[in-house]
Amino acid sequence: MISKIITINTIEMLNQYLLTDECKDRLKCAVSVFIQIFSSERDPEWLMAIESTIRGTMPTGVIAGATTMGEIAEGRLLINTTVISFAFFEKTRIQGFLLEGVDGSQFDSGNHFAKKIEMSCQQIAGVMLLTTPFTMDVSDFLKGFSAARSGTYPVFGGGAGDYEAEQRPLITLNKNYTSKGVLAVVFMGNDIQIDMHTYLGWQPLSKEMIITETDGLWVKKIDDEPAFNVFNRYLDIQNDRDFFLNVLEFPLLLERNGVQYAKAPMVVNDQNAIKFITDLREGEKVCIGYGNPAVMIEKANDIQNRIQIFNPEAIFLYSCICRRFLLQREVDLETRPFETIAPTSGFYTYGEIYSQGKHVMLLNATMVAVSMKERDGQKTEEGIAKRIEKPKSLDPFTSQHTRIISRLVNFIKAVTAELEEANREARRLAERDYLTQAYNRMKAHEFIKNEMKRCDRYGLEFSIIMLDMDYFKKVNDTYGHNLGDEILIYLVKLLSLEIRKIDMLSRWGGEEFLIIMPMTDSDGATITAERIRIVVEQTQFTSGLRQTCSFGVTAYIKDESFENFIDRVDKALYEAKISGRNCVITK
Ligand code: GH3
Ligand code: MG
Ligand code: MG
Repeated sequence: MISKIITINTIEMLNQYLLTDECKDRLKCAVSVFIQIFSSERDPEWLMAIESTIRGTMPTGVIAGATTMGEIAEGRLLINTTVISFAFFEKTRIQGFLLEGVDGSQFDSGNHFAKKIEMSCQQIAGVMLLTTPFTMDVSDFLKGFSAARSGTYPVFGGGAGDYEAEQRPLITLNKNYTSKGVLAVVFMGNDIQIDMHTYLGWQPLSKEMIITETDGLWVKKIDDEPAFNVFNRYLDIQNDRDFFLNVLEFPLLLERNGVQYAKAPMVVNDQNAIKFITDLREGEKVCIGYGNPAVMIEKANDIQNRIQIFNPEAIFLYSCICRRFLLQREVDLETRPFETIAPTSGFYTYGEIYSQGKHVMLLNATMVAVSMKERDGQKTEEGIAKRIEKPKSLDPFTSQHTRIISRLVNFIKAVTAELEEANREARRLAERDYLTQAYNRMKAHEFIKNEMKRCDRYGLEFSIIMLDMDYFKKVNDTYGHNLGDEILIYLVKLLSLEIRKIDMLSRWGGEEFLIIMPMTDSDGATITAERIRIVVEQTQFTSGLRQTCSFGVTAYIKDESFENFIDRVDKALYEAKISGRNCVITK
């Protein structure tokens, strides 16, 4: 395959290229031509004029296009132009499909679309998809698409955009266009090889929060508050018509199956709910994320090295618009080095499409880099010589913007880590008993109340054990208070080893402890208490002292009061004391 990228502002400029000998020669050798139009202009007449002109020279070419918020030609960002990328294939067949007006179930539409493609095409080697994410649920569409497809051939592409942020982008295929739909271009045959990569380069900036209420693509609540409050509080972003542009660089980050994803907000409504471009689920943990330019460029270099080995004949980039917003004039630092490997074209997208196995996903904030070739083998000397030089080392003044951001991101992360550590310590101090480090009475109180609620609601069981050292006053009187303290510390270590992870040990008073045992009936708790009693009895405490404890055990009775519950275990303990101590009484 041979790739050629041109940039035009007039139809004459297009004609000039079509009339060159170079273009004619390439057409002679090509079995198919794939033409992509990335246009800043969303006037359908402009797109149709381009298509008619190309159609005159290349009647069987597949012409696919999208309106964008930034075109990429030869690895550079262009604005307010139209970029046309021609891929002349010598062996590969291609076919286009357009789905106009995706109504009803998006999942079903995706499902039918994948089936239609697989029924009409043989030897599928890859599929490019262009979509209109503002007018449809692309995530759901892709779920349906994934469910229906039988192969694991790569699927890639992006969501169209428009400069005015009017959210009415267009996609176009072979002289049909739509602002609500999906187009596919299918690559067929055994000779084409497609290699793709994606990377993010965004980092968590805020503390972790939980998605608490959703409705389709709408996130209504985060940490039980209206979702918008998060963006307003931390970023001072307003609920106005600029919301989308202001919030773009701050997607929510989350992890699914060990992979980090970004989810970009799209609109906010009067109830302060936020619609996202891709789905978020209730219960998922998220942070506000921010792109770190240094990390992005480092990751780009890493991918470029791998693509260099693949030795492609063309590279297509689908890069999220927020990368352009973040890197500003330095955005080419990320994309230009791709051009050192092969002719690179693409556009800045609303949502990037990327497949992993059978699963096709809509990503946000990422770069998807797709490499193609029809030839075999390693990169030749000649191949290397054809390409441009890598960009020169950077002017220290022009790259200052990205460096300041990297340092600020680092600063915020360091401050957040310090605060989190301080919070953890404050929480520990508030919950723990100073002497023994067992939980304190206040924390036990809270834990029991929660457990009572759970049991009342779900009909579960739970029990408590109250224990008190026998004749402890004598230890203090005989050996001194310090040794008494040491014995208390040692007892807590001993008890901690005897209880389960889900149990809670607290210091209820002086030398009196409470063990709370979720999901345990009174028999289970009695057996535990008896086992602990024997362990204490057989232990040599500090200075070889022997000690025993008395135990009261009781199981929670549904709907009883906290006071009643504690009173009952207290009485059981009292009975153990008057029954001669070093014994367990269950009430
Ligand atoms: P009983 O078997 O009836 O429980 O006898 P006892 O001596 O243990 O009596 P009681 O429970 O009434 O006495 C508790 C004693 O525990 C009183 C106090 O000196 C001691 N104590 C309470 N808190 C601490 C502490 O933090 N350190 C030390 N060293 N002793 C404590
Ligand atoms: Mg005692
Ligand atoms: Mg006591």
